[in-house]
Amino acid sequence: MSAILDEVLKANARYVDSFGSKGDLALPPTRRFAVLTCMDARLDPAKFAGLSEGDAHVIRNAGGRASDDAIRSLVISYKLLGTHEFFVIHHTNCGMEFFTNDTIRGLLGSSLETAELTSEGFKDVGKGPGSRAGEFIDWLTIRDQKQAVIDDVLRIRQHPLVPLSIPIYGYVYDVKTGKLLEVDGASEAGAAI
Ligand SMILES: [Zn+2]
Repeated sequence: MSAILDEVLKANARYVDSFGSKGDLALPPTRRFAVLTCMDARLDPAKFAGLSEGDAHVIRNAGGRASDDAIRSLVISYKLLGTHEFFVIHHTNCGMEFFTNDTIRGLLGSSLETAELTSEGFKDVGKGPGSRAGEFIDWLTIRDQKQAVIDDVLRIRQHPLVPLSIPIYGYVYDVKTGKLLEVDGASEAGAAI
């Protein structure tokens, strides 16, 4: 068994021991909101937003981008499970700012092994062959952090399946302080009508 697998299963056993009454939680989130945020390991939405089990939906992907699949989850979140406020939370020092579609397509094209982040950006150090399949994916990288939040808030706001009654708030989480910083214009762009 890998060391990580062993650690995770042991941690889970401890969690089960203290699970208490959480087995009685209802399926719909009690506090009726959803968060779309980045998968970055430094972000823990339960801690930075004060969530307990059963409170809210947290949808995570690389960058916290409003991809078609993120919007699929948000629509299910409100339509079937009753959330009525959305947060889009990106963060400082996001890895999605450090490459472009061309970069990752090129890296994948030459090797499927993990690249290295150098002072000149990501470089392949592994062996080939790679795959050109990455050329068919829009990697939704980020050029301007604040604009990306506004773009994602607007993409959700303008989606035909998202009702105008749901406010969408746009924030950047500061990885140096843990603080949520409101992005000028984002929450206005996502305001409920
Ligand atoms: Zn990130």
